[in-house]
Amino acid sequence: MQQQLSKKTLSFTDEIAEGVYLLGFERDFEFKAGQVIGIGMEKEGPRRLYSICSGEREHEIMILYNVVEEGYLTPRLCDLTEGDEIWVTGPRGEFLYDSAPALWIASGTGVAPFYSMLRSGQHENKTLIHGERYLERFYFYNEFSETLGEQYTRCCSAEDDPAVFRGRVTAYLQQVAALPSDFKYYLCGRAEMVVETRDILIARGIPYNQIISEIYF
Ligand SMILES: Cc1cc2nc3c(=O)[nH]c(=O)nc-3n(C[C@H](O)[C@H](O)[C@H](O)COP(=O)(O)OP(=O)(O)OC[C@H]3O[C@@H](n4cnc5c(N)ncnc54)[C@H](O)[C@@H]3O)c2cc1C
Repeated sequence: MQQQLSKKTLSFTDEIAEGVYLLGFERDFEFKAGQVIGIGMEKEGPRRLYSICSGEREHEIMILYNVVEEGYLTPRLCDLTEGDEIWVTGPRGEFLYDSAPALWIASGTGVAPFYSMLRSGQHENKTLIHGERYLERFYFYNEFSETLGEQYTRCCSAEDDPAVFRGRVTAYLQQVAALPSDFKYYLCGRAEMVVETRDILIARGIPYNQIISEIYF
């Protein structure tokens, strides 16, 4: 099916950590937290998918992305400034909120859909485990930590901090005492992390149908 395309004017673009950007444009459509949109530079050119990271009722749509140096779109996207135009497809996707208690597991920019859920007030009974290489890259740390408190764990693979688990999310999950078998497990990030995490959860007795994955390939 042909995706509906529309042109959007960027209201801001901001480099929030080295090579990691937030961009925004005015929201003129409805979406559900966890959904993605396609973004392209030209109407007919290549497009890539991005999770919406703003809340369902906010005035702007925000996207969090990291520049893939050898990639096609992101090195071009990061050169844009306020007032420039991009082409966007309508929202889609089934990586959606559920009222059941859940563990949200993210690596890198894979935290974006969980931030959207948080900003949409969908964080009750939810615990976030976020993995990053460097401490400065725990995007939205202040809001996650204020809202989720003890239900928010950072796992840092390359730097130490007494308040942060040293290692990847996969190492954290292998040693954590309790992984409730009646929880949902939402996984979002690069393929290696999602596949490895899924294997660990299954090995620890989590039923496959309680694991919901969004892979950034
Ligand atoms: C459902 C879905 C949601 C996504 N949401 C986001 C998002 O919210 N934020 C985000 O940053 N990306 C997201 N992605 C990845 C995004 O669609 C692009 O693949 C990514 O931005 C690279 O695009 P590119 O054109 O610059 O590079 P490409 O020319 O597409 O790719 C170059 C190479 O980089 C690899 N690559 C893809 N993504 C990454 C990455 N994040 N880091 C390092 N290498 C990568 C590709 O596998 C490929 O080998 C999502 C992907 C999917 C499928």
